[in-house]
Parts: sequence; C-alpha cells; structure tokens
Amino acid sequence: MNNSVQSFFPHGQNIAVLTAEPLNRLLDYRAPEQGVHLGAFVEVPLGPRKVIGVVWGAAQGGYDPKKIRPIFQVIDVPPMRAEMRLFLTKVGDYTLTPLSQMLRLATRAPGLADPPHMRRVLGPGPGEVSRMTPAREKVMALLGEQPDQRFTAAELARLAGVTASVVKGLVKQGAIAEYETARDVAYPALDPARAGKDLTDEQAGVAKELRALVAAQEYSTALLKGVTGSGKTEVYLEAVAECLAQGRQALVLLPEIALTVEFLDRVEQRFGARPAEWHSGVTMTEKRRCWRMVAEGRAQLVVGARSALYLPFQQLGLVVVDEEHENSYKQEEGVLYHARDMAVLRASICGANVVLASATPSLETWANADAGKYKRFDLARRFGAAVLPEMRAIDLREDALESGRWISPTLARAVFARLDRGEQSLLFINRRGYAPLTICRACGHQVGCDHCDARMVEHRFQKRLVCHQCGESKPLPEVCPSCEVEGKMAAVGPGVERLAEEAEARFPDARVAVLSSDMAMSARALKERINSIARGEADIIIGTQLVAKGHNFPLLTCVGVIDADLGLQGGDLRAAEKTFQLIRQVAGRAGRADKKGVAYVQTHQPDHPVIKAILSGEEEAFWQAEAEQRRMAGVPPYGRMAGVVVSGPDLDLVFDVANYMVRNAQGLHSIGAEVFGPAPAPIARVRGRHRVRILVKAGKAVALQGALKQWRGGLKLPANLRVSIDIDPQTFY
Ligand code: ADP
Ligand code: ZN
Repeated sequence: MNNSVQSFFPHGQNIAVLTAEPLNRLLDYRAPEQGVHLGAFVEVPLGPRKVIGVVWGAAQGGYDPKKIRPIFQVIDVPPMRAEMRLFLTKVGDYTLTPLSQMLRLATRAPGLADPPHMRRVLGPGPGEVSRMTPAREKVMALLGEQPDQRFTAAELARLAGVTASVVKGLVKQGAIAEYETARDVAYPALDPARAGKDLTDEQAGVAKELRALVAAQEYSTALLKGVTGSGKTEVYLEAVAECLAQGRQALVLLPEIALTVEFLDRVEQRFGARPAEWHSGVTMTEKRRCWRMVAEGRAQLVVGARSALYLPFQQLGLVVVDEEHENSYKQEEGVLYHARDMAVLRASICGANVVLASATPSLETWANADAGKYKRFDLARRFGAAVLPEMRAIDLREDALESGRWISPTLARAVFARLDRGEQSLLFINRRGYAPLTICRACGHQVGCDHCDARMVEHRFQKRLVCHQCGESKPLPEVCPSCEVEGKMAAVGPGVERLAEEAEARFPDARVAVLSSDMAMSARALKERINSIARGEADIIIGTQLVAKGHNFPLLTCVGVIDADLGLQGGDLRAAEKTFQLIRQVAGRAGRADKKGVAYVQTHQPDHPVIKAILSGEEEAFWQAEAEQRRMAGVPPYGRMAGVVVSGPDLDLVFDVANYMVRNAQGLHSIGAEVFGPAPAPIARVRGRHRVRILVKAGKAVALQGALKQWRGGLKLPANLRVSIDIDPQTFY
C-alpha cells in the first residue's frame, strides 16, 4: 500500500466499495458528481438490488471501465474512520471472519440509507403557564436552563421528575411547543462536573489513578478488581467523568442482563441525564438515533451490550467492561469474538483506555495484570457496614442427604434460624428445570432428545420434557419408550424446580420465590420480581445463576450452594475457574446491608483445591495455582487454542471430512501446532446435524490464524457441510 493514502476521490475516479454481501471481494464503482471521501457510507447497485457499503480505497481495476456503474448515493453520515476500518480488518483476521461479514456488525443502524424521517419533539413555547404548580414549575425551569435542547415527551417528563400528563398539559397551554425535526434527536447533555457520591479513601485513591490514566489520553488497560458492593461502579463512573470532561466519548459494556433501569438511573444521578443505550431491548428508532449520534460525536456515553463495540465513535476515550469475566461477552454465533478482548483491541487502535471491572476476574485478565500488561487496582472493602460472608463447607459425606432430598440437615437448620429472625435465605443450584434426567426404573432407559445428543430435562411446571440444546419438547411419557412398561418413569437429580418443591415441603410456613432464566418472563417482569424479593416479599429464594449477577438483596443473610461439585465435572478447561467465580459471586449476595451473612457450600470433595480456595477466600492462591496448571498444560492464556467443528447431516461424511482435515494439517504442524481429534463434540448432534470436533493447540507466539486460514481455504467442502473455527473457545460444545 502507498504511504500517502488517498482520502478523497473526485468525480470521474473509480473507487472500491466493501459491501456486507458474501462476495469475498471489493466492488468497483464510479465516484459521484460531488466526489466521495474514503470511508464514506454509500448505497450502490448490485445486480437488481441496492446495498450499503463503505468506500474502502481506489478501484481495484480489471473490469471493463464502461461497465463500471455509478454509486446511487453517499449516505449523509460521517465517513467511517480509519481506526474503525483497521479495527474491523483486525477482528476479521483474528476470528477468521470475512471482512464483508465484519461490515455487517458495523452497519447495524436501522434505515441507514433512508432520508431522515420527521419526529415530534418538545421545547419552550410562546404561551404562558396559566396556573403554576410545583410540577409545572419543574418542567419550565428545566426548559429555561436549556432553551435550545429538544426533548422527547418521555425524556422531558423523566428529567423533570413529573408525569407525562403534566407535560401534556403544558403543551396544550402552549408553554411547551412541539417542533418537527429530523428524527434523530441529540441526547440531553451529560454533565461530568456534577458532584458524585463522597468516595471512601480507598475508592478515591483508585478513582484518582483511573482519572489520571484517562487524562493522559493514551492507550492502557486496567483491571478494577473489587468485591461485590465495594463501589466499582462508583469508581469507574469517575473515569467516565474524566473522559467526558476531556470532550471524548465513553462506552460502558454490560452483560445484557445487567442493562437495567437501575443502571441508567445511577448514570443519571451522576451526570444529570441518561446515556445512549444500545442493546437488543432498544427500539429501532432509538437504535438509529444512537448510531447516528455516536457517529456525529453527539452521544457522550453509550451503555450497551457487546455489539456496541462496533458503533462509529468519533473520539472514543474510554471503554469500561463491567463483569468482565462474564461468558456472555463471547459471541457464540456468527462472528465468534470475545467482546472483552476486542474492547482492548479497539482501545489500543484509537488510543483509548479500558477498565475491566469484576469481583472475580477471568484468569486471562488476572494473568495479564500479573504479567504487568494491564494495571491493577483493588477495592478490598465493601462500602458501608457490609462485610463479606463467612464461608462454611457442608461435607455431604458426613452430613448425608436423605434420598430424594438435596438440602442437608445443617443447611436446613440455618434456613430455619433465618426464618425465625425474619431474614432471607438463598438456595442456589445452577440447573434449570425439575430434574436433569428421566429414567425408566424397569429397563434403565434414559429419555433423550430425538434431534440432539442430549438428555431431556423435565420441566414439571410445563409438564413436559425439554431439550436445553434445541428447545424441542415432548410430554412426560407414562410408558417407557423403550421397554413399554407403564408407570416406571422416574426423575433423577435436582433442578431448580425440584429444589423449590423440597423447600416448600420442608419450610411450609415460608414464602418461596424461584428465580430462573427459563421462567419465560419479560425482562421487566423479572426486574419487578427481583425488586419485590429485595423488599422482603419472600423468605427463601431458589435460584440458578441468574441470581449471581449483581442484584441486591439487603435482607439476605444465608446462602446455600446446593451442589458445589456440579461445575467441576466435565472436561471443560475453565471448569475450575467458572465454579470459583460463580460460587464467590453467589456468596457475595449475602450480607450486603448491615447484617453479616454466611454462605454454606455443600460438597462431596471439601479437599478439592477449587473448593478449598472458595472456602478460604484465598483468591490469589487460587489464581496462582490455576495459572500454574494451565501454564504446564500450555493452554490459554499461556498457549493458543482453536476449536474446529465440522457439522452436517450425514455422520460418516462428517467424520470422513474431519479425518481428511486432520491428515492434511501439515501447514499447522509446520508452525508447531498440535492437532487433536476428530472426536464427537461434547454435544454430538444439534438440530439433526452431527458435530465432530478438532482441537488445535499452539504456542503463544505462533501465527495460528494464517495457518488455519490456509488449511480451511484448501478444502473443497461438500454442500451441506460446515466448518466453523472458534479462536480462544470459551465453551466446548
Ligand atoms: P460494585 O459495582 O463493586 O458491586 P457499587 O458501585 O454498585 O459496587 O456499590 C454498591 C452499593 O454501595 C451501591 O448501592 C452504591 O451506590 C453504594 N456505594 C458505594 N460507594 C459509595 C459511596 N462512596 N457513597 C455512597 N454510596 C456508595
Ligand atoms: Zn434437542
């Protein structure tokens, strides 16, 4: 490439355009009358259709010049910045994703090419307020402060703290006027100079360091580690404040489930207005508004899910990844990327800072901090009177469970004591449904899914067996599908529903509430339920990992982990780490207010190193040990891995192709990579497709992607067969 990149193409010149079509090449078009900038978003003809693209450079040539068509239109948004083009290219290279598919992530604005629609917004009007009330006064004061700002009706009501009818009344009187505007309204301004909460000395110390990093306007990544409730959010909002004060844009990534009204309210408290939002729950109109305002540099702060990384920031100064250890940051479909890692990449390209916040960081992040690549700041104390719960093991070899019961006598006594005192208990089991297994007592047959290689999970509430892989369900059989004996089908093992049944039977006077992700509730209904539990409208909470995610239950003083060994089974490389994080997080729900909590951990292996580390709270020791094991095994983060899944409807063909691939992996061997398999994937069949897995392991410094790309590129695949490559796989399906 030429050093002096041409950044404007006048009329008559030909340009290369990247589209989101699966073509694997750029397309040449003619620049329009007024010329076009490098990076401009354009609409171009493709066959009979119009598609969106981005001007990627000078024309490639090689076409009959007379056949090159002009572009339709240059879309009225700022061109894609060079740093974004580089980011998309690098993510594509890293994840082995074609650039066209990457572009799709960066053009997710609804109606991007449409002319602006009109939208009705509110501002000060010519009329007088006929009868002033305190509520009306609040609205008028707000409008008086920002006479040029336009608001949606909902925004105005919320910011003024009045009901919608107050605003409507003022519109009727003419004190507020309606304006027609191009649909995308600028967001109310966030004021970073507003005072935040009074920070503790520990919080203030860390906030100062983070502010200094942001003020330096140079790339860096910091791990912000602090127990739940230590004020990590308060502290990183200080870093956001610094970024906004510098006039740069900030992005806070949250796991989808944590994107709540509470969080927006906290931002509003801190900065006086709500941030822009970007996640699956946002309406098309608001999405379009967000994308455009970010592109124009007029959204100061975006709070979003992982795909917000691909928004067209003009001057990104800070990315916060909250709960950075969360699995949900890894996208498991389409482009297989990890949003935490890509946030670091994005920031390093544009000179921004990253804050990775967690009570239980991923080993990857811990190791990067340990190696000095990331800075690390710790908040060791909980805010206020709250102290960390005491951890106690319940050794199930001694404190034995009665058959068909999962709450040990010791745990039951602890729950009774809480009931007497009017405090709450949480019983945690990370398994949805009623029972993980339905078995015939006559012949031993286990009911499996007809389409997947997975056991059907009983959901007694729905009176059905459900496959957690494909969602297929069928009625509970009366008769064994195998031996046809009647009335012998039995549930084996506990799920969250069965645990609730046991709790209701053993604590008949208690109010039992279940919190599980498959309760088919809307996000709002779920939030409402969590709030009512927090207010004390339940005595015993039965929950899956849904409860581990940062909700506050001030009356909760007892946590019972029903089966701590559950996560340690199965050959997942991250089993120990995940179990450690999950149980620490769940235990962190106890004693958040002023009462000390106790977490009981039921286990058959109290001497297992992971269980011991959980109980002793010696986190550094756990990480050191886990890091050492992974270093010895040469696995991430001390080695590189790629999971290759070959899938198709015909098992023999799938295996043949996978075997062929393994035999013809000289390119991988030549860079020192090892190739394992093929073997049936842990879930060997999904939706009727057989899945075979090949695992590629390589040293840390090896150029793995290039070799993988060549390897896959050299294949001629039969139709209906798919090969997907997952770099740094998180799960091993
Ligand atoms: P974390 O993100 O580490 O879980 P939060 O920032 O959510 O912690 O803080 C936990 C709770 O304590 C929140 O309700 C928060 O408002 C409150 N809190 C934390 N620090 C302070 C402070 N310095 N002053 C007042 N309240 C605080
Ligand atoms: Zn299935």
